[in-house]
Amino acid sequence: MNEQNTNTVSIHKELDPNKILVVDDIPMNLELMKIMFRDSNYELVFANNGSEGLEKAQQESPFLIISDIQMPGMSGFELCKRIKSDDQTKDAAVIFVTAHARSSRQVREGLEMGADEYISRPFERDELLARVNAVARLKRAELEAQQQAILVAQRNKELELLNELAVATTSSLDLQRILAFSMQKLFQIFNAEMIVILMPDESTQKLIVNIASAGAESIAIPVSVKPGLSSIDLSRRKLVASILTRIGNEHNYPFTIPHPDNLGLITTVPMVSKEEAIGAIAMIDRQPRQFAEVEWSQLISAVSIITVAIENAQLFSKVQNFNRRLERKVQERTRELAEEKDKVEAILSSIVDGVLVLDANNYLVTLNNAAQEMVGSDEESLIGRSITSEELVSPLWNCIRYLADNSEKIATASVDIPNINKPGSYLSIQAHSAKVQTDTGETIGMAIVLSDVTAIMEVERMKARFMAGVTHELKTPLAVIRLHTSNLAAYHDRLSQEKREQLLKAIQAQVKQLTSLVEDTLKLSRFDAGADSIERQSVNLSQLAGQLVDEMRLLAEEKEIALNLSASSPDIILNADPKKLKWLLNNLIDNAIKFTPAGGSVGVQLGLDMEGSKQSALIQVTDTGIGIPVDEYERLFDRFYRVDSAHTIPGTGLGLSIVKEIVTAYDGSITVANSPDGGSMFSVSLPL
Ligand code: ADP
Repeated sequence: MNEQNTNTVSIHKELDPNKILVVDDIPMNLELMKIMFRDSNYELVFANNGSEGLEKAQQESPFLIISDIQMPGMSGFELCKRIKSDDQTKDAAVIFVTAHARSSRQVREGLEMGADEYISRPFERDELLARVNAVARLKRAELEAQQQAILVAQRNKELELLNELAVATTSSLDLQRILAFSMQKLFQIFNAEMIVILMPDESTQKLIVNIASAGAESIAIPVSVKPGLSSIDLSRRKLVASILTRIGNEHNYPFTIPHPDNLGLITTVPMVSKEEAIGAIAMIDRQPRQFAEVEWSQLISAVSIITVAIENAQLFSKVQNFNRRLERKVQERTRELAEEKDKVEAILSSIVDGVLVLDANNYLVTLNNAAQEMVGSDEESLIGRSITSEELVSPLWNCIRYLADNSEKIATASVDIPNINKPGSYLSIQAHSAKVQTDTGETIGMAIVLSDVTAIMEVERMKARFMAGVTHELKTPLAVIRLHTSNLAAYHDRLSQEKREQLLKAIQAQVKQLTSLVEDTLKLSRFDAGADSIERQSVNLSQLAGQLVDEMRLLAEEKEIALNLSASSPDIILNADPKKLKWLLNNLIDNAIKFTPAGGSVGVQLGLDMEGSKQSALIQVTDTGIGIPVDEYERLFDRFYRVDSAHTIPGTGLGLSIVKEIVTAYDGSITVANSPDGGSMFSVSLPL
């Protein structure tokens, strides 16, 4: 593993602080040295020449080399030069021994070569030992300092790695990255064979075994473990060994599994957070590891750094999961609310009545389509505005403001507003307000419902008109009857027979008129009340009209009017109520006879007509009578309407209204026109 070399401080072979190499070509000198060091603690090694000296220096690592200067072959100077230039030996001290008195030149040359001391022959044992001891002391101190420096450098390097581990692991919150990085750094710091991080996974109930081995990518393997395995068990070396063996047996992973029996190869440290083990880190070596105290405390520091980082990542992922769940919930709720809102809006917009909702300060919160149409403004320009705004001027806004100011919980007001769909006409609006209150009775707004009651009001008006009409029509015949009866009562013995008969006939005529008025009124009231259900049965119109014409022929003949019936078929079959068909025909033929002077004629034509794919029965009643001015056509079918109310021809003014009601009930139609022979022509079409 090259990486480990770059990350540990290089230490060359240590010098032996007791070993001295003596280099001399004269054997006697070597012997002399042996004698001199006999009782000392130094161990001597010898070399007979310069090259042997160099070789021994490399092999034996003496802390001191005592060398002769003048030797055949490699001189002492040359040896010194070579020793000082070799990394392996350069720290060894050199003492030159010379037989000659030292010349200053020689001393300078020797010192330049890196020699530490000179000693000249002859010398005393004490002098030699004193010098050697002095050099040895110096060397030992130097070596110790060097050792310390190496240790400090090594410790620094390791602290640097720990620091790198701390920075890298805490700067990431991604668990996988933290694990990969942690394992890589543990490799660098401890130079192990394999690093294993064991962590239980709560969600899968499995143990995740993260493995990084020399020369292979780190992997994470989920392993099933027996239930009840406590987190603290994870740091049991036996368990780690058995899990690794299992993994090795089951999968073909590119790493060597240590023999499970050799537990000495495994070092485990639990990852403890808040007094609870969250996993364990195991380190596997090739050789049993002897932990120095420093190394052990480094491992503990590294594990606690990794534990904190893992814990942070787990916490972060929990927070993230929580956030994600929260976000999903918020989205769901928002969607539900939007759906709810759409539903409410759909309901509101489908309501025919206008609906406005105000908040507690009379600002508009909601108004549906019908309300927008009634106030003549769209929702965009109104929502969020106060109803007291000066720009909101119209009788309807006044009405809304009146209700908003009303202190009653429920209030009602009415207003007429111009009908924009029918210029010139008005809509009658009835507005109901209800305060919106909370459970505690606090008013938080108001709902106002605007109902278009125009049709109801119209019916009310019609009813009032009808009643006025009935009363009015009753008055005249009743007045005539009262007058005639009082005359008869007062003067019956004085009046001639002829006069009495005349008065009685007049009373009879008025009673007849009253009877038809009451009958017609009843018929119409029944239509109005919806009491007459639309009965349908098969009726032969041709036959029914034939019978009726026969019945009325006498009446026509009395007036010298020709009454003719023609039918395109003797069997025109209709699905209708025969009684109502009879009323219809009777009213039309009766009018024709009534409004045609003597000598004229009335024709009833029956036929069939195709309108698209629908077939209808056609009834036409024509006369040669007084006719009807075209501008009267529209009002002709109104109740009590008579073209010339002053004419003497009796009538109630209700006949054509009844005809119109019947035609409408059977989805038919009626038109009036001038007859080609100068009278009127009424055409009725009734679907078969
Ligand atoms: P009534 O006949 O009792 O007056 P109706 O409702 O039947 O009431 O008719 C309304 C009015 O229509 C009549 O008063 C008359 O002025 C006019 N009218 C109806 N039918 C004819 C007709 N065939 N020719 C001329 N005027 C008619």
